[in-house]
Amino acid sequence: MNYTLPELPYAYDALEPYFDSLTMNIHHQRHHQGYVNKLNKALEGTDAEDETLENILRNISKYGSAVRNNGGGHYNHSLFWEILSPFAKTVPDGNLADKINSLFGSLEKFKEQFIEAGLTQFGSGWAWLFVKYNGTIGITSTANQDNPLMDTNITNQGFPIMGVDVWEHAYYLKYQNKRADYLDAFWKVMDWNAVEKKYEEVLSKLK
Ligand code: MN
Repeated sequence: MNYTLPELPYAYDALEPYFDSLTMNIHHQRHHQGYVNKLNKALEGTDAEDETLENILRNISKYGSAVRNNGGGHYNHSLFWEILSPFAKTVPDGNLADKINSLFGSLEKFKEQFIEAGLTQFGSGWAWLFVKYNGTIGITSTANQDNPLMDTNITNQGFPIMGVDVWEHAYYLKYQNKRADYLDAFWKVMDWNAVEKKYEEVLSKLK
């Protein structure tokens, strides 16, 4: 399989003023494209060319660091673009909202914990909302381009349904060192519609 850069479902400036156009452009065209190119190169001529990316990540302990970093990079950024929208639904409802309320107490408390995961991820990485293999949900963070799919995570494995990139390349041009301000802005463009859809997809896969 030859991986390609997915097109963004909105213009580079569509998430202004929260996510700026220049950052979106560089992030998509240079960073994400770089992960795609290096992933293709790392898999070229190997048996893993016929595997799905999800299966590769779920068995990532069998692969080298080039597949781990760039396979994760491609998967994570593809998910990230999908859950952002200029028409974001900023409050969840339905099954996922019920689950969040019962586990975390309220949407606000969930957001506090999620932001804490993003703020305390030291250096580059991601904060995630994910569905565990037993069907419940959790918050976690991972370093570099790892994610909860990877079998290298001992305690927090599952399907990511929402994530935020806390690499400096995701926010430094606009927010400099103020990661908290960037995470604040994230909620304005993070679309619960997209996340609810992913949640239902994962639940049906787990049945
Ligand atoms: Mn990134």
